This record gives sequence, C-alpha cells and structure tokens, in this order.
Amino acid sequence: MTSEKKNEVSPEQSAELLRLTLPMMAQHNVPVTPRNYAVWFEFVRGENPELKAELQSLIDANAAFTPQLNEKLFEKYAAECNVEQFLKIRSEMNDLMDDVAGSLQEVGSEAQRFGGHLDGVVEDVQRSSNLDDIKELLRSLVDETRTMRRSTQLLHEHLEAKSQEIALLQEELEQERKRASTDPLTGLANRRSFTEALAHHGADTNQPGELSLLMIDIDHFKEVNDTHGHLIGDRVIRFLAQVLQQHIKGQDLAARYGGEEFVVLLPRTGLRGASAVAEQIRQAMGEAKLVRSDNKQPLGRITVSIGVAAYQPGEDPMDLVNRADQALYRSKQGGRNKVTVDMDATGISNRA
Ligand code: GH3
Ligand code: MG
Ligand code: MG
Repeated sequence: MTSEKKNEVSPEQSAELLRLTLPMMAQHNVPVTPRNYAVWFEFVRGENPELKAELQSLIDANAAFTPQLNEKLFEKYAAECNVEQFLKIRSEMNDLMDDVAGSLQEVGSEAQRFGGHLDGVVEDVQRSSNLDDIKELLRSLVDETRTMRRSTQLLHEHLEAKSQEIALLQEELEQERKRASTDPLTGLANRRSFTEALAHHGADTNQPGELSLLMIDIDHFKEVNDTHGHLIGDRVIRFLAQVLQQHIKGQDLAARYGGEEFVVLLPRTGLRGASAVAEQIRQAMGEAKLVRSDNKQPLGRITVSIGVAAYQPGEDPMDLVNRADQALYRSKQGGRNKVTVDMDATGISNRA
C-alpha cells in the first residue's frame, strides 16, 4: 500500500472527522479558521504521530490555544497544505452543509407531524363531555405543545447558526485557496497554479496546435534595480503583469514564474496565434513610457524577450516549458526585445 493510498479518506470518513473536529475545536476555544481547522482535522484523523503527540500533551496540560500557538502549530504541521487539500476540505464542507440542511428539513417535518397529531387530539377533546377531563387534557396538551415548540425552535436556531458558521468557513477556505495560488506582488497566478493548469490543459490536449506557451523575461532587469532600486523594480514587474493581463482573454492564464520571469498559457491556440499575442506584448512593453512616480524621472525603455512553444500531445508538460525557455534564450542571444518561436515541434528549422 502506498502512502498516498493510506492518506485517502472516503467521503463518509471525512464527514465523520469533520463532525468530530468542530466540537473539539470549540471545546478548546480554538477559532474555526481554515488554518486551525487544517491542524485539528489532521489531529482527529490521527495519521501524523508527531502532531498527535504534541497536541495531546497540550490538551492534557490544559494549554491556552493562543493565536501564536495556533499559528506555530499550523506552520509546523499543516503549512504544506496544498491547493488540492483546500479543495478537498471545501467539498467536505459541502457534505456537511447538505447534512445540516437535511437535519433542518427533518426537524421541520417532525414538528409538523407533531402539530397535526396535537390537532387531532384537540378535536377529540372537544367532542368529550366531561368538562374537568377536557380542561385537564387541554392544559397538558398546551404545555406539551409549548415545550415542543421551544425545543424545535432552539434546534432550528442551533442548526441555522451551524450552517452559517460553515458558510463562513467555506468563504475563508476559498480566500485561503486563492492566497495559496496567487503571487502576492502581481496578483497573477503563481508558479504552482500555473503548473497545475498546464498539467490540466496538457491532459486535455489531443491535437497538436491546441495549447501554446509564452515564456517572458524582462531584459537587463538587474540594471533597472541597480539604477532605480528594488521598489521601482517591483513596480516594473507589476506593470508587466498588467500588460500581460490586458493581452489575454477567456481561458488564457498569465502567471509569475519567478523573479522577473512570466509565463502565459494559451489553451486552444496554435503557434501562429501565440506568436501574435507574444508580439503584441513585446510591442506594448517596448512602447510604454515608464516614469518614476516620485521624481518623474523616465525609466527609459524597458523591453522583454519572449519564447513561444506549442504543446505536443502526450509530451511531459515540463518539456513544453523547457522548449519555450530555450526559445526565450534564443531571443536573448539574438539581441533581446525579440520573440522567438520554437520550431522543433513543427519540423521546420528556425535557422532558415
Ligand atoms: P537578461 O536580459 O539576460 O534577462 O538580464 P537580467 O538583468 O534581466 O537578468 P538577471 O537574471 O541577471 O537578473 C535578474 C534580476 O531580477 C536579478 C534579481 O535581483 C532581480 N529580481 C528578481 N526578482 C525580483 C523582484 O521580485 N523584485 C525586484 N525588484 N527584482 C527582482
Ligand atoms: Mg531578465
Ligand atoms: Mg530572468
């Protein structure tokens, strides 16, 4: 059995674990944030002996779960939580929501049944002739009804509060998922979500010329930093991110690959279309007249070099990245501020 198999949890188990996790967190005054939830879910699941031992000894020692302690536990045991795990937690949340909704409905119909039954008894009583009996019956029935109403109401309120709590948790999870897949400087997708998107689209591609990739690198960026400082360098990076976003649409994905290097994934686009997009981006950057916002000093022309490649069905997605990277390298070699198309895949020599 592989460790991956061992870590798999069935939907029934997940829902059960979830039901155990939430009350336990409440019992120890741990706020139900996605991060804390990730830690306690793993604890309840019991697959991580180190986490199990540490958290258990904290519980035994009646430790206060301060925000600092919670954060430390998250960093130590759950920070590796990847996007897929977040998605999994989200679907578990959905299961629980369904469950809660189901209970609410059940309570509603039970109360209705009870009400109907009472109505019947009340009618019987009305037909009875012994006044004292009737009075007594009515009083007890009224009391019972009130009790039932009150407890149903409480249950309703409780379930509604729970489902609101879960909705909030889902929202937070969604934010956390976004954070885990976004580059903080530019707001573009980060390298990890690009790699995931590439794998996803690669697997969907059966014909050549259906998926293309641009690899983009700012020319002589070190000089920008050296001349104007890192903060201005960061602004230039953000500016390029905006330019990329302005030139893509639909399913296209622009991502920061690292440092001053970006990728643009173009589904349903062949080499010709992709080179046109690359050329537009190259021109837009070359024509932009960037000035420093503080002293209005012009930054001079900032250009980019681009490599373009198309995915070959069945190839390792990283091969596509490597070919785009090699094409980018040729743009640099050729003097920068250039677009180079990888011709390996088409069988055409680009040296002709
Ligand atoms: P080339 O035309 O060959 O690409 O030259 P270059 O100077 O752009 O390339 P090089 O790889 O030598 O330098 C890249 C620089 O980018 C070095 C690094 O300090 C800078 N850099 C990487 N990430 C960031 C960032 O997030 N912000 C800033 N301001 N600079 C960064
Ligand atoms: Mg560079
Ligand atoms: Mg670079």
